[in-house]
Amino acid sequence: MQRYSGFGLAKHALSHHENWQRQWRNPTPKKQYDVIVVGGGGHGLATAYYLAKNHGITNVAVLEKGWLGGGNTARNTTIVRSNYLWDEAARLYDHSLDLWKGLSQDLNYNVMFSQRGVMNLGHTLQDMRDIQRRVHANRLNGIDSEVISPEQIKEIVPIIDTSKRARYPILGASWQKTAGVARHDAVAWGFARAADALGVDILQNTEVTGFKIRDGQVYGVHTNRGDIESKTIGCVTAGNSGVVAKMAGLTLPLESHPLQALVSEPLKPVLDTVVMSNHVHGYISQSDKGDLVIGAGINGYLGYGQRGSYTTVEHTLQAIVEMFPIFSRVRMNRQWGGIVDTCADACPILSKTKVKGLFFNCGWGTGGFKATPGSGHVFAASLAKGEMHPIAAPFSIDRFNTGALIDEHGAAGVAH
Ligand SMILES: Cc1cc2nc3c(=O)[nH]c(=O)nc-3n(C[C@H](O)[C@H](O)[C@H](O)COP(=O)(O)OP(=O)(O)OC[C@H]3O[C@@H](n4cnc5c(N)ncnc54)[C@H](O)[C@@H]3O)c2cc1C
Repeated sequence: MQRYSGFGLAKHALSHHENWQRQWRNPTPKKQYDVIVVGGGGHGLATAYYLAKNHGITNVAVLEKGWLGGGNTARNTTIVRSNYLWDEAARLYDHSLDLWKGLSQDLNYNVMFSQRGVMNLGHTLQDMRDIQRRVHANRLNGIDSEVISPEQIKEIVPIIDTSKRARYPILGASWQKTAGVARHDAVAWGFARAADALGVDILQNTEVTGFKIRDGQVYGVHTNRGDIESKTIGCVTAGNSGVVAKMAGLTLPLESHPLQALVSEPLKPVLDTVVMSNHVHGYISQSDKGDLVIGAGINGYLGYGQRGSYTTVEHTLQAIVEMFPIFSRVRMNRQWGGIVDTCADACPILSKTKVKGLFFNCGWGTGGFKATPGSGHVFAASLAKGEMHPIAAPFSIDRFNTGALIDEHGAAGVAH
């Protein structure tokens, strides 16, 4: 792998940048692999990378029906934080945040992780009690988190409306300074390049259409490019996980909903943090390019159309203008939707299944981007050992039978 560096950039400038190496190969599928990862989004690619890097398992294929990172990885609003309420979730997301901090160096790829801080606003007394509870729980878990006043909020975000005249006056916020955003495409590309360099075969335009299962053990997949065999298969197919599970005769406790995002015309820098509000139900940050990156909650209906409804767009923008009247005349440039799989307790599934050798990593709902490195790291360890990693273990499918749910609705909030 050609390493990227300042020196390399200068050297390539001399040949007008015409001699850069391809970032990853385009191999022909082999008949058999030690591990197959289904889904070439950030989580699937991270899983393959850590399998190769941390466990020496390099005979791995990532099967992606479209192009790399073209699913939710390319469609999200890139918020990264770890201020979750319950110990299990806090451990998982904080493990991820730890990996984010060194990810650009580890991958030799600039994922533009920017720790610009994330605030979650409170607008009622109950909001503030919930925020206090969450901040205390975070601190007990060693996560940096504090409660800040409207005056402190105004200092960090001078353009926000903290006046008492607001329809839903801002009473305070939780503030995680080490949280922030990252460049979503670069995350997929960085993991893909690094995994490929370690020998992982990334097979784009390769759709899994069925599983080969004998005596309760998986031993391969059917694809549009022929059958491929492996006795260890990890499915990381985000919004399509219910569909993929059905091919193996499994029903996952998931619902699939559209989730939308918007970006505005580019503006000069005005907002250098991330502001979220569960109560008015919207969140916003400003990208390095200048556009406002905006989102809210899921569409209530179920479906696989990657669009979303106009009413949600309207509701989202009402929330943004409630917090930032200054943005009322800003034009929105683009809107899109992704499909998110949500579980009843707003937590993901990282689990074995009743089919031996077949694992699922899904149900991240509206908030899995932030977990990309952590999810890949613990899922790779689980696939390598055949047993779930201790951080992943509480997120087993069994929790829907045992009742050991991890109720993160509060922290998932506007649903992140
Ligand atoms: C609008 C929006 C905003 C969001 N904002 C945030 C946010 O701010 N912060 C945050 O943490 N999270 C956010 N999320 C959630 C986040 O994007 C996802 O949880 C995360 O990207 C999931 O990653 P993934 O790699 O599992 O999924 P994906 O990137 O969707 O990858 C799954 C891949 O599987 C492939 N696939 C599916 N079926 C098959 C098949 N049969 N065969 C082969 N391949 C298949 C798909 O083509 C896809 O590329 C948001 C999501 C959306 C839609």
